[in-house]
Amino acid sequence: MYGAPIWCSALRRSKEHQRNLNRAWKRIAIRVISAYKTVALDAALLLARLPPLILLADARRRIYDESSRLRRKKQLTAQRTRAIRTEEMLTLREEWLDHLSRRGNWGRITIEAVIPEFDCWLDRGHGRVSFHLTQLLTGHGCFSAFLYKIRKLDNPRCTSCGGAVLDTADHTWRICSRWEINRRELVEIVGPDLSLRGIVHAMLRGERDWNAVSSFANSVMCIKEEEERAREGILPDPYLTFPPDTQEEMAQLDSEID
Ligand SMILES: [Zn+2]
Repeated sequence: MYGAPIWCSALRRSKEHQRNLNRAWKRIAIRVISAYKTVALDAALLLARLPPLILLADARRRIYDESSRLRRKKQLTAQRTRAIRTEEMLTLREEWLDHLSRRGNWGRITIEAVIPEFDCWLDRGHGRVSFHLTQLLTGHGCFSAFLYKIRKLDNPRCTSCGGAVLDTADHTWRICSRWEINRRELVEIVGPDLSLRGIVHAMLRGERDWNAVSSFANSVMCIKEEEERAREGILPDPYLTFPPDTQEEMAQLDSEID
């Protein structure tokens, strides 16, 4: 926290600094949840439980300012320090939630599923967000509709159930007949609501539900990946080569900062 007011003020003033730091912060979030780099910044941070850097910087500045004020008056105790931190972390959460509710469409599906469970998601003591689970929570992964959108496939439709509908995460969770047996096992544990919001709610009920969802994700996505490799060749590495930094990605970052 040393020097916090200086770098926080500099960060607030400079869009360029915000952009550069957001890129680095996003890379960390992407690693934490093993996401494709196309996942929106706000969705990646939420899934990784990392607050937006600008809000974190503001909270640290407030903690620094208040601690300094009390220290000058010789009123700073360990108990008071803890109370300041707790209070500012609560404020940070409120600001984060407000920030998420005012964002545009980037990552909206994921954000809207997690927002109703915001505190539970951040405070949970169980559950790791794995590579396959992240794909189903974001829609960025081995789905024909997504691969088509980023021009890695020439057909967005699901080949698992006849090719008549778009292959999306929602189609995989709720509809595709190919995964009927896996889905039945999942529903036995988490219940019938397989909307993304319903699934997140179930995951946060406890470890058993989280593991059932995670198991569904691993089983289904492994098969989808194997079939995609057989159909189209090797799937690109989501972190290193897939896709490159595109103008669209830059525009996304810009829109998230402005
Ligand atoms: Zn299907």
